[in-house]
Amino acid sequence: MIIDCHGHYTTAPKELDAYRKAQQEGLKDPNHVPSKGSLGITDDQIRESLEGAQLKMQRERGSDVTIFSPRAVGMGHHIGNETTSKNWTEHCNELIHRVVGLYPKNFVGVCQLPQSPGVPPKNCIPELERCVKEFGFIGLNLNPDPAGGMWTDPPLFDRWWYPIYEKMVELEVPAMIHVSGSSNPHFHATGAHYINGDTTAFMQFLTSDIFKDFPTLKFIIPHGGGAVPYHWGRYRGLAQDMKKPPLEELLLNNVYFDTCVYHQPGIDLLTKVIPVDNILFASEMVGAVRGVDPRTGHNYDDTRRYVDKVEWLSAEDKEKIYSGNVRKVFPRFKG
Ligand SMILES: [Zn+2]
Repeated sequence: MIIDCHGHYTTAPKELDAYRKAQQEGLKDPNHVPSKGSLGITDDQIRESLEGAQLKMQRERGSDVTIFSPRAVGMGHHIGNETTSKNWTEHCNELIHRVVGLYPKNFVGVCQLPQSPGVPPKNCIPELERCVKEFGFIGLNLNPDPAGGMWTDPPLFDRWWYPIYEKMVELEVPAMIHVSGSSNPHFHATGAHYINGDTTAFMQFLTSDIFKDFPTLKFIIPHGGGAVPYHWGRYRGLAQDMKKPPLEELLLNNVYFDTCVYHQPGIDLLTKVIPVDNILFASEMVGAVRGVDPRTGHNYDDTRRYVDKVEWLSAEDKEKIYSGNVRKVFPRFKG
């Protein structure tokens, strides 16, 4: 069985974008009273949006199920205020719930949170509980920077975040660390802000005691862990200089990396550096990079081809990467 632990609903019907635009228009009018409203999306539209895209690619690439969440760049936590984010997030999560209802064998839900800059993350708990308890979602995407590239909220090791961690432990759900769009022109969203977010989160974990306080808390750092595997020696050395235990002991019971790395040498490096037990298969399709690599003739994000080709991975190792590790990291996954 092949489980892709990282997919977003990037192909949602255009009504979703129209809702978001209207929401942003409303923000310009000081007398506007925001309300949740409705999307007006039919089940047929949802089917149509998936059949030619994610479902087709699952079939073509031979993956069985995708752990599916709302479009990450669309979370836009920096847009508007807490109410804006709450209304938008509820719609986005409800849409994922409908997708899973229509295709229960192909998708399992993960939620976004109604985060907003300066607003305590504990305010997101009701939506997290709704998604896990009512919708059967198995995880969440946690944005370490709701300010979209401005990094104005406290770091992930600050107690500001602890109520969410407590709830994650209680519900047995892991979080994928996932930034959203960039409001900082220095940082291209998927090319720089994403990779920065991944790398930054890892270093925040390294310098903190989060995993002493929450020994069962689990995070997935997507996009192959940002710059982390490539610079593993630097991180090992920094931990050593700080008199911290080796990384295996310090955080590898809690931190996992996905395989959203879009070329063979990158996957080779990931699988050489990071223990097999800490790697989860993912492609993020249909996502950040949509083209075909002229050097291979295949889509850049067809990551299964790279993992399959890694010679030093045994069949047992590959089974862990493709499905075994997901069951460990997502205890609520039933499949
Ligand atoms: Zn993503």
